[in-house]
Amino acid sequence: MTSPLDRKTVSAIQHDGLVPEARVFDQLYSIGQNAVSAWALDTSDGITLIDALNSEAEAREIMLPNMVRLGLDPKRIRYLIVTHGHGDHWGGAKFFQDTYGAKVVLSQADWDMIERPDRGGGHFADLLPPRRDIVARDGDKITLGQTTVKLYVTPGHTPGTLSMIFPVTDKGKKHVVGLMGGTGGGSSSETIKTQIASLIRWSGLGKTAGVDALISNHPAHISAIEKIQLLRNDLATDPNPFVYGIDRAQRFARVMEKCSRVQLARMGESGE
Ligand SMILES: [Zn+2]
Repeated sequence: MTSPLDRKTVSAIQHDGLVPEARVFDQLYSIGQNAVSAWALDTSDGITLIDALNSEAEAREIMLPNMVRLGLDPKRIRYLIVTHGHGDHWGGAKFFQDTYGAKVVLSQADWDMIERPDRGGGHFADLLPPRRDIVARDGDKITLGQTTVKLYVTPGHTPGTLSMIFPVTDKGKKHVVGLMGGTGGGSSSETIKTQIASLIRWSGLGKTAGVDALISNHPAHISAIEKIQLLRNDLATDPNPFVYGIDRAQRFARVMEKCSRVQLARMGESGE
């Protein structure tokens, strides 16, 4: 057990009420906070979580109450897929593993990273990592009920960033969601080049799978806060604002790729 949540710490991260919980698709719920996202994918056989915020305290005081308000029983959690090994995405993972028996999924490289004594560096060294349950390889699938999440290892942001593609419905209409598990290729030209290669591949995967809806693991990347407010206030368009269409979803990946190339150019390296 960690100590009770320090309200001061949390208020710096989560401004009360700024990102209320939301049902984004018929099966997909936003249960995170304003700086970092967490998602719940509901199926007939249980719930798959995607990411677990910064800490046990945030899992307990943000994710759990959000799930309960949305009518999602935490006892039904089966899997927790962690997009990448930075602590703002896995800090609450051990809590879900210990409390609800969630099987935690990361790539090999990012398991290695979070199991190092420094947890991969940064300010996450004090976090306790979850036990290694499932090592996701490129192309692996996590199936629960009728829903299959396809996982792809897309290195760059971290050595083993996981991206995923899965089907949803919006008021019964089928869509395919894409989540690129890490945005930005870090600070070295090598990792940025790796990220560019991953984005090119991601774009192709999205095209093949017919990805027409996007979510992200930080709300700011896709203006998720504004989109959620539209949904909650019944002002959303049809299809809902997380649906981009295949062409725009493709363009999103290409813009991210161009941003990485600009980053390289700023370092004096060719972005070509
Ligand atoms: Zn990160």
